[in-house]
Amino acid sequence: MKVAIFSSKSYDQQFLKAANTNDHELIFLEPRLTATTAPLAKDFPVVCVFINDQLDSETLEILAAQGTQLVALRSAGFNNVDIAKATELGLTVVRVPAYSPYSVAEHAVGMILMLNRKLYRAYNRVRDDNFSLEGLLGFDLHNCPVGIVGTGKIGQCFAQIMKGFGCQLLAYDPYPNPACIDLGVTYMALEDLLAQSKIISLHCPLMPETHHIINAQTLRAFQPGTMLINTSRGGLIDTPAVIDAIKSGQVGYLGIDVYEQEENLFFEDLSDTVIQDDHFQLLQSFPNVLITAHQAFFTRNALENIASTTLSNIADFAAGRPCVNQVKLT
Ligand code: NAD
Repeated sequence: MKVAIFSSKSYDQQFLKAANTNDHELIFLEPRLTATTAPLAKDFPVVCVFINDQLDSETLEILAAQGTQLVALRSAGFNNVDIAKATELGLTVVRVPAYSPYSVAEHAVGMILMLNRKLYRAYNRVRDDNFSLEGLLGFDLHNCPVGIVGTGKIGQCFAQIMKGFGCQLLAYDPYPNPACIDLGVTYMALEDLLAQSKIISLHCPLMPETHHIINAQTLRAFQPGTMLINTSRGGLIDTPAVIDAIKSGQVGYLGIDVYEQEENLFFEDLSDTVIQDDHFQLLQSFPNVLITAHQAFFTRNALENIASTTLSNIADFAAGRPCVNQVKLT
């Protein structure tokens, strides 16, 4: 099938071309998919998109009118697609439900170690022949209460790794995971988790119920100096509220791989431009904030799995087989 691949980077080309055993016609397009760029997909039965492509009702209407039948997400999350509208227009939407939960969980753990032991400062100091330990004091992860919000595939991997450090594992999830209970995770109400944890890691999807799950009110439940890690979706955190909490010391460390307005920033080299997002710039200025640009998924293993599942989703659709990874309206 003829596939228009939006937001494509060199690594997308590399892994998708290598996995293209069915000889689909892959056309790599650099722009993000929006209503403005949707005409680029005219006469393509398949569009393939990533997390910051905007498949709102306007874009979907243009795609459907131009002959698109399938939207193939190269991601697990689908919060950027208006599923109700896609269903109404008869568009099939498929995703990659799991490609490497380890990649994201391991990145979250990397952020915890980096923030706790201030490795970014230590690295720069030693390169500058400054061997002082002042300001580098950390804390043991052993026995540390760690709160996991969302214990699906990634939350479970995260719990497994943190168990290895000897942490106390606390969790909130409306659907507790038996594998996590077997690991020794204690489920509790969100408010109790926020009050008891020294480290909180977010692993739930972004949905209307979880939008700004971390806000001014829930931040008040935190212990002073809590470490907050978000490798899930930016919209889980109310950024101005978390900035206030960092200033007051309620949040002692913040590690984010995702940011609510990231579509204007991430995946591009903006080193020669003046960033206009004041909240982002303020976060960058704090010594206890670590930001990575949505790279938690970015391992070779994950990219191989994303490419092979995306192409087999397209092959299923082309052959008229049921699409096992179809996103359906619930
Ligand atoms: P999953 O579907 O396996 O697990 C999600 C879990 O969240 C489920 O157990 C679900 O019951 C739980 N949940 C639902 N509503 C909740 C709520 N209100 N509060 C708490 N928990 C709730 O998904 P996953 O594969 O573990 O991925 C989790 C999220 O990670 C994705 O939705 C995506 O946003 C994010 N993600 C980020 C990256 C990255 O590179 N940074 C990569 C992949 C996925």
